[in-house]
Amino acid sequence: MDKQVVGILGGGQLGRMFIEAANRMNVTVRVLDPTSQSPAKQLSSFAKHIDEPFTSSTAIQELATGCDVLTVEIEHVNCDELEKIEQQGLALVRPSSSTIRMIQDKFLQKEYLARHDLPLPEYTRCDTLDEAKRAGKAFGFPFVLKSRLGAYDGRGNYVVKSEADVETGFKLLGGKMQYAEKFVPFVKELAVMVVRRPGGEVATYPVVETIQRDNICELVYAPAQIDGQVRKVAMKVATDAVSCLPDGSVGIFGVEMFLHEDGHTVLVNEIAPRPHNSGHYTIEACNTSQYENHLRAVLDMPLGDTNLKVPAAAMINVLGGTDGYSSVLEPCLASLEVPGATVHLYGKTEAKAGRKMGHITVVADCFLQLRRRVDLIAGRLANASD
Ligand code: ATP
Ligand code: MG
Ligand code: MG
Repeated sequence: MDKQVVGILGGGQLGRMFIEAANRMNVTVRVLDPTSQSPAKQLSSFAKHIDEPFTSSTAIQELATGCDVLTVEIEHVNCDELEKIEQQGLALVRPSSSTIRMIQDKFLQKEYLARHDLPLPEYTRCDTLDEAKRAGKAFGFPFVLKSRLGAYDGRGNYVVKSEADVETGFKLLGGKMQYAEKFVPFVKELAVMVVRRPGGEVATYPVVETIQRDNICELVYAPAQIDGQVRKVAMKVATDAVSCLPDGSVGIFGVEMFLHEDGHTVLVNEIAPRPHNSGHYTIEACNTSQYENHLRAVLDMPLGDTNLKVPAAAMINVLGGTDGYSSVLEPCLASLEVPGATVHLYGKTEAKAGRKMGHITVVADCFLQLRRRVDLIAGRLANASD
C-alpha cells in the first residue's frame, strides 16, 4: 500500500487530518490547493504539491498524472475535469465524478434520495421568484430557500419569514438555481459517518448529535443522547442513504439528519461526500478514524472497526474571533489542563471571525464527566471571544 500515491483536491483541515492518517501508513498524498502553505500541505514536505485552484483543468490533469487515486476534501470541485480523468483512465476518482456531481447540487441530491425512498423534508424546485412565492404558500412560514450549488456553513441558505420576505431571500441567493425546503421543527440534529468500499461494502459509525450556531457546527456529542429506537432508525437511514448511492461512491460520507419534534421521525438534511466536521471525534474516540477509513476505502483496503473505544466523546470547534489568534490559543492552552482533551490546530495564521481554526476533542468515562469537561473548555472559549 505504501507505493500508492493519493491526490486530494483541496488542502484545508480535512486534508490535513487525512494526511496525518496517510503518513502513519506511509502513503504519499499530493495536494492541489491554491495556497502554498495550506493546512494540508504543511504536514508533508516530501510530496509534490500543486499551488493552483482545485477547479483548474490543467492542474487536475497534472495531479492525476502523478497519482493512482484522486479524492476530495470539498465537494465544490470541477466534475467535468474529473470525468475526463476517469475516461482517460489517468487515475481512479473516488468518490466518482458522477457521485460528486449529484451531491454538489443539493437539489439533484434531494431528487436522488427521494427516488430511493429516503425520508426528507418536503422540498420543491425554485427557478423563478414566482416558484419561490408558491413554495411559501405551500409550505407556510418560515421556510428555507437554499442555493443548489456552492453551499457551505449555511451561506447558501435563507430562512424566509413571511410572504414579503420571499423576494429578499430569492435575490440574496442570486436569483437562480435554488430550491425551497419546508422548515423542520427539529429537537436535535444528528449525524453519522458511513464509509463505503469499492463493491459496496459499508461500515457505519455511531450516531452523534451536532449543535450548530449561526449554521456552523459548534459542538458534537458522541454517542448522541437519544433513545435506542431513534438510534436504530438514524443508523438505518444513514446506512441506506450511503448504500443507495451509485456505483463508484467510494470513501467516507457524512450524513446530516434532523430528529423531528415528534420524537421519532428522522429526516436526511444532506450528505457530504468526504470527511466531515461531525466525524473529527473519531480520531481519538473510535478504533479507526474517519480519515484512516477514507484512505482504506479509496485504496480498496479492508475497512477498520468504526466502534467507539471510549464511553463518551465530544468535539468543540475553535473558531476565529474578534481578538485574532489569541482568542484561538487561549482556550486551547486552557484545555491542555482538562483530562481527556486533545487539541488540534490547523496551521491557519489568519484568525478571521468565524473561520475554523482548530478543534478540541474530549473523551470521558461517562456523559456527566464529559459535560463537565466540555463546560470547562466552552467557558474558556466564551471568555476568549468576549
Ligand atoms: P454545511 O456546512 O453542513 O455543508 P450547508 O451550507 O450545506 O451546511 P445546510 O446543512 O443545508 O447548509 O443547513 C445548515 C443548517 O441550517 C442546518 O444544520 C440546520 O441547522 C439549518 N437548516 C437547514 N435546513 C433546514 C430546514 N429545512 N429546517 C430547519 N432548519 C434547517
Ligand atoms: Mg452542505
Ligand atoms: Mg449541512
